[in-house]
Amino acid sequence: MLDRFNREIYYLRISVTDRCNLRCYYCMPEHGVKRLRHDQILSYEQIIKIVKEAVKIGIKKIRITGGEPLVRKGISYLIRGIKKIEGINELTMTTNGVLLEDMAFELKYAGLDSINISLDTLDPEKYKKITRVGDIRKVFRGIDAVIKSGFKGTKLNMVLIPGKNDDEVEDMKEFCIKKGLLLQRINHYSLDSLSSINKLYEAERPLPCSLCNRIRLTANGNFKPCLFSDLEIPIDFNDIIGSIEKAVINKPANGTHCYKRQNWQIGG
Ligand code: SAM
Ligand code: SF4
Repeated sequence: MLDRFNREIYYLRISVTDRCNLRCYYCMPEHGVKRLRHDQILSYEQIIKIVKEAVKIGIKKIRITGGEPLVRKGISYLIRGIKKIEGINELTMTTNGVLLEDMAFELKYAGLDSINISLDTLDPEKYKKITRVGDIRKVFRGIDAVIKSGFKGTKLNMVLIPGKNDDEVEDMKEFCIKKGLLLQRINHYSLDSLSSINKLYEAERPLPCSLCNRIRLTANGNFKPCLFSDLEIPIDFNDIIGSIEKAVINKPANGTHCYKRQNWQIGG
């Protein structure tokens, strides 16, 4: 479906949980996160229903994100359900990779097409500092499991943080070549201002607003037309298509700011 600025919106990012097993300092506060109750988040059946309607207005690509999508129980059930929907030609996930060692094969078998794994550094100490609690060895084992399971087009998401990991881009490129992965550099931003996007480095993300092709669905059932906006359209299960259309039509030409939510609540 075209938005008011002639952008084709065919990509829906679905956050399936606001929970996470890491606490990346640029994404989540260390303590005191008020989490949603289970009955406040969309069920898998509801998400599948939404995707079935979304294809009718031209959504073709789905990304499962979070929080950390792999901490939600039974995630392969959702993958299988979405995979069966005619019209979805790309089903993908963004994960921190911590749980991939045990889950990669199951996800492949369920029909997931590709995976983006977030990894900002190759240094175990730095990784611990950035994620506050993470053990990088688990991510390395997760990456190997993804390769072994036969996934193609696996990307490493690297957030470029001035003074922290910006000296590691070449090493990361080499690591990716060695493992057969694609490096996706993300310029660090803060949601409270579009102009906070760090422009010091060459990076693949975020995309400029003029090339935006996506809308987002939060774990508790709100469509977000734009990452850098507080605008939200609560899903109306009596008129799912109408809710999605409203989100597309209300997409602003450019983002401004999002004060209401943080990244872990939206899914990046
Ligand atoms: N937990 C999963 C993960 O980390 O891959 C999925 C959710 S996470 C919010 C999605 C992506 O957003 C990750 O690649 C993460 O690095 C990125 N991200 C989070 N906060 C960011 C920020 N302030 N600036 C740039 N990218 C950010
Ligand atoms: Fe969790 Fe992903 Fe945010 Fe890190 S970037 S805290 S892994 S949701």
